[in-house]
Amino acid sequence: MALDRSTIWPFDEHGDPGDFHYQRDGHPTGAAAERALGELDGGHALLFSSGAGATTALALTLLEPGATVALAEGAYYGTGRLLASFERWGVSVLEFDQREAPPEEATLVWLEAPSNPFLTMPDLEAAVAHPARVVVDSTVATPVHLRPLEHGADFVLHSATKYLGGHHDVLLGAVVCREAEDAERLLALRTLTGIVAAPDPCWLLLRSLETLRLRVERQTATAQELARRLSEHPAVEVVRYPGIGGLLSFDLPSEDGARRVETSTRVIENATSLGAVRSSIETRRRWEGDRVPGGLLRLSVGLEDVDVLWDDLAQALGEA
Ligand code: PLP
Repeated sequence: MALDRSTIWPFDEHGDPGDFHYQRDGHPTGAAAERALGELDGGHALLFSSGAGATTALALTLLEPGATVALAEGAYYGTGRLLASFERWGVSVLEFDQREAPPEEATLVWLEAPSNPFLTMPDLEAAVAHPARVVVDSTVATPVHLRPLEHGADFVLHSATKYLGGHHDVLLGAVVCREAEDAERLLALRTLTGIVAAPDPCWLLLRSLETLRLRVERQTATAQELARRLSEHPAVEVVRYPGIGGLLSFDLPSEDGARRVETSTRVIENATSLGAVRSSIETRRRWEGDRVPGGLLRLSVGLEDVDVLWDDLAQALGEA
């Protein structure tokens, strides 16, 4: 579709605003991308300027003083830090093992499918049996592997910067709501706060969604094989992989060894983020501190040939 960067559209002949009148409220490229993502996840999608922006909008819409968020242990560290920043407004954050039922006192349940970088999968059935509303950050699973709304979740969150965008060239977030009323509340907050996605990233998302299934299926097939080979490698202590998706982590005995491996790969880029067509690897200790083992390496598998990636990993592991 054509990219329309307008920030205003003229009112009609009676002087009344049409569907699109001011970009902060909504724009044609964003609406088209939201329709496409809404179909993929089976709900009402809204796009934000980043995944963190989507998290902020959802938290501001759903939380009030006295709320208790049950957050999946080991979920994206930025989400935990962001939710903890609401503690000064009387919100508590309680981490729990998402493979089990959420704590009773939760007023909002926040899961990650699978968690980044520990790669645990949530027990969705146990979570939706809880009376609290359920958010599933499905950035890593993508709608190719999981449609959380079909399992009874209320909201799906994506850092569309990752697999949905898929090329490390777009910063974007999304929330997909089961109920239209929730989407209306979120839209009202998005318009007031201005945490809205601009037309260019929305256009890039539309481009990327056309190849999403192909990319994710190939990344998954390659990640499955690399996880298998890594689990047989003598230098590797633990492989963390849920069996779906293109993200995996593996642990070496020492932080120094892991640092040597990440700087020794030649095909796989030593960089942060995940979900793109090019593979990348990094130790997570530098960002997350003692929360993660020093020897943990997170590998985002791209579209390169599996044997090219394995040869690169094997030669780098020789430096561990
Ligand atoms: N959720 C998950 C699982 C993530 O991995 C990230 C970013 O790494 C985010 C949310 C935040 O997204 P963004 O970086 O697009 O703001």
